[in-house]
Amino acid sequence: MNQKVRVRFAPSPTGPLHIGGLRTALFNYLFAKKNDGDFVLRIEDTDQNRFVEGAEAYIIEALNWCGIPFDEGPGKEGDFGPYRQSERKQLYKSYALELIQKGKAYYAFDTAEVLDQHRKDHEAKGKTFIYNWHNRLKLTNSLSLTNEEVKAKIAAGEDYVIRFKSPENKELLLKDIIRGEIKIDSNILDDKVLFKSDGMPTYHLANIVDDHLMQITHVIRGEEWLPSLALHSLLYDAFGWDAPEFAHLPLIMKPVGKGKLSKRDGEKGGFPVFPLTWNQSEGYREAGFFPEAVVNFLALLGWNPGTEQEIFTLEELIDSFTLERVNKSGARFDPEKNNWYNQQWLQIKTDEELAELFSTELNAKGVSVEQSYIKQVVSSIKERANFVNDFWELSDYFFQAPTSYNEKAVKKQWKEDTPEIMQQVVEVLENIEDFESSRIEDTVKAWIGEKELSFGKVMPPLRLVIVGDMKGPHLFDIMALIGKAESIGRIKAAIDRL
Ligand code: GLU
Repeated sequence: MNQKVRVRFAPSPTGPLHIGGLRTALFNYLFAKKNDGDFVLRIEDTDQNRFVEGAEAYIIEALNWCGIPFDEGPGKEGDFGPYRQSERKQLYKSYALELIQKGKAYYAFDTAEVLDQHRKDHEAKGKTFIYNWHNRLKLTNSLSLTNEEVKAKIAAGEDYVIRFKSPENKELLLKDIIRGEIKIDSNILDDKVLFKSDGMPTYHLANIVDDHLMQITHVIRGEEWLPSLALHSLLYDAFGWDAPEFAHLPLIMKPVGKGKLSKRDGEKGGFPVFPLTWNQSEGYREAGFFPEAVVNFLALLGWNPGTEQEIFTLEELIDSFTLERVNKSGARFDPEKNNWYNQQWLQIKTDEELAELFSTELNAKGVSVEQSYIKQVVSSIKERANFVNDFWELSDYFFQAPTSYNEKAVKKQWKEDTPEIMQQVVEVLENIEDFESSRIEDTVKAWIGEKELSFGKVMPPLRLVIVGDMKGPHLFDIMALIGKAESIGRIKAAIDRL
């Protein structure tokens, strides 16, 4: 029988979710859904010093906003809870002790000061201090001390940690779905601490124990965890457990130059790096991105569908996603391209939805018009917008007469005979019964022909007085929308003012 696919997203609640973390969550979600599996959220909060209030709630809200909710996790108890490591605290020590019993781990009593001194001595010689097979018998631990000495120290309440006994002279063959086989010489590994003097497990122990107990089949996480893979696979062997499969996702790189995308890049470049606003840092949601666009651009950061397709719904992503198509090399973050994704998603949205969103802003500005009017406005300008936030600037003249006119355009378009021509346009418009775009267009054009005027003498100044600028969609569409009285009023006002 095939095992049910179970994946987990395992953030530490040390702050807001960075866009890279969100992508890790997304890839886990896509893989789970593609394989009819479970997507688990596990909060790795064993490091009390780095705990940040509100971070967990933020992470959950971000996942929900993106439309990629977890199946099991805090607040959605399944069969494998609790899902916060702090609530599983009492469980880990016995596993550390089990490894001691099996001869795979040991007690170490070296004080922080002693270890620090070793580090400094090594540094002075240009070396790095590693605690492992080559020196462990010279240090203070249950491998170098007698049983009695160890018992006495523990009985006396001395601080200790439990370290993993990493093997000497072994070539480790690690497997990663994205990277293939990786060879590691075990001699470079240090004897990592599994259990700390404060009674808490380290990340490594808690992570492995929980992945095992929660029956995780695939570990999909960021490349920064690749260096831990050797230890993790040794831990599975030491316990005698089947290891899950691993996939380490490529880093998300700066828009320009080398290196990993950071919060500072966002500050410098004026783009978000968090899904939701956190303290002073604006999030994608607040910047006006659609969650669909964020999911879409994140999916294509490091994964490729193998086709030219760029716009994907979540369902389409689930359908096409495979870990084999995740790239090995870093994925460059491109804020411009992200805006483009939003522009594309904006065109996919219905005019109703967009009008609904826009009306909130209009209300705030004190503009009150019918929803059907807003819908028509949105339909005529949305092509030019990346965000709903752009709507007002693109369409203000639909809701209010120009308060000023673009100076350059006035100089160029407003000639001596223009007021007279505009006055005649007013008369032409007054005679149009059915004030509808093509009707206005036909009538005005026929009149231009009759009078043997040039289009250049009529159309640009007409746009200028209606819009206040040379921008906007088809002029007769605008006039039809704002209506006959308003169009005429604007022309007359301009004749007076210019
Ligand atoms: N708690 C780790 C983190 O913050 C989890 C890494 C993993 O997925 O194993 O990213």
